[in-house]
Amino acid sequence: MSGYKPEGAPAYLLAESRESLTSASDVLADIALSTASSGTSPDVLVDRGAIANGTSGGDDMRDDGRALPNDFVYDWNLRGLANAKPIRTVQLLDETLRDGLQSASVRDPAVADKLKLLRLMDLLGIDVADLGLPAAGARQVADVTALCEVIRDEGLAVRASAAARTLPADIQPVIDISRATGVPIELLTFLGASPIRTWAEGWTLDKMRRLVRTAVSMGVNAGLKVSFVTEDTVRAHPTVLEDLFRVAIDEGAERLVICDTVGHATPEGVYELFEWTSELLHKLGATHIGLDFHGHNDRGLALVNSLVALKAGASRVHGTALGIGERVGNCAMDQLLVNLALHGALDRDISSLKMYCAAVSQATAHTIPTNYPIVGQDAFRHASGVHASAIVKALSRGGEHAANRMYSGVPSDLIGRDQIFAIGPMSGESNIMAWLAANGIASNPAMVAEIRRAAKASDHTLGDEELERIVERCSDDDASARASLTRAAGAA
Ligand SMILES: [Zn+2]
Repeated sequence: MSGYKPEGAPAYLLAESRESLTSASDVLADIALSTASSGTSPDVLVDRGAIANGTSGGDDMRDDGRALPNDFVYDWNLRGLANAKPIRTVQLLDETLRDGLQSASVRDPAVADKLKLLRLMDLLGIDVADLGLPAAGARQVADVTALCEVIRDEGLAVRASAAARTLPADIQPVIDISRATGVPIELLTFLGASPIRTWAEGWTLDKMRRLVRTAVSMGVNAGLKVSFVTEDTVRAHPTVLEDLFRVAIDEGAERLVICDTVGHATPEGVYELFEWTSELLHKLGATHIGLDFHGHNDRGLALVNSLVALKAGASRVHGTALGIGERVGNCAMDQLLVNLALHGALDRDISSLKMYCAAVSQATAHTIPTNYPIVGQDAFRHASGVHASAIVKALSRGGEHAANRMYSGVPSDLIGRDQIFAIGPMSGESNIMAWLAANGIASNPAMVAEIRRAAKASDHTLGDEELERIVERCSDDDASARASLTRAAGAA
């Protein structure tokens, strides 16, 4: 290292040597002096997202009694947040049971599974669930009815919505279910709005206006809250959108749902469309109308587009568990929840996220990819020796809170997961020692050397069975090693 000491750098970097700081409290004291003398304000580091990230701005005493430095990480996100439009209001609409099940590869869950998923949505604090499209047939009617009955009988806070084309034959079953169960259902009535769709269908603007007028008034007159959904909004002409939005608002729609039905939009496009729509609502004296964003993931932009929509005027965004849905799917609700929590825009416990994702995976026969963010098998699993070494050092200096943030942009404890150490060709001794410790196995030099040799010779991460065979072979005391393994297996 050169002698360069940037102004305002964390105090522990300004110390003459790391060894001169003998405890975490020394680090904290040094930081306090540094901050006072430099006049650097830590304000930018203080918000709920910062707390989740481990950048809480104040002296931080964890449950395990370890103190951590307050500038644990420097968060450029928070600097960006300070200069950008904030996310003020967030409601979430879960499309798993409607759009999610339109995936070409998922299994349509049994009604008992749908009820379970609805309860898990409620547990996660999801505001509204799209329960299905009753016009699709008798089974849909039965399932949507059963879901409404659970909301009513179990007093769930999650509210019901259902999809329908702008056709009376689609809307009537929604009205009927709402009347039969006594549960208010938000009607999501949708119409294709892009030139390519209207051309393919042979629709005129007059016909589209009539469809919207009839559909929205039918829902409103039946006492339903109505949201008007323009399919493919992000590729629709503004004059057409203005026409259709005016009709929907005149007839009593309470929300407009802006859709990226084919996953075409970029963040810039989403921002522009929401700015334009907000200005239109202003011009119409209709700023009470709520705006939704419903994004698909064909370009891999559904999540970022949803976050941008929230900054640009949307107050509700749609998603599906694990991002299941048509083609490559929708915005992933699980990733949305975690990002909003890290953003400080969501004040709720999301520790049941694992359960929600696992239940959807099981009910729809959709396998979660190993590298899937947050709930994938490898989301917090480390095979690199460099990474494992740093995590182990963080664990030793700052406890689990620090270890959970060392090589994880999403702190694993946010959703109740642990850091996991794997052993493969790129691993080092830290991985081996951490794996042995996690499995309650007493190590010896021969065992560590043998695991290392096997890992370096392997073309894959060693499985538990491969490792257990080596452990048994190299154990000082075979009986105690076997007992340890049994205990570890029991604990798992
Ligand atoms: Zn969709």
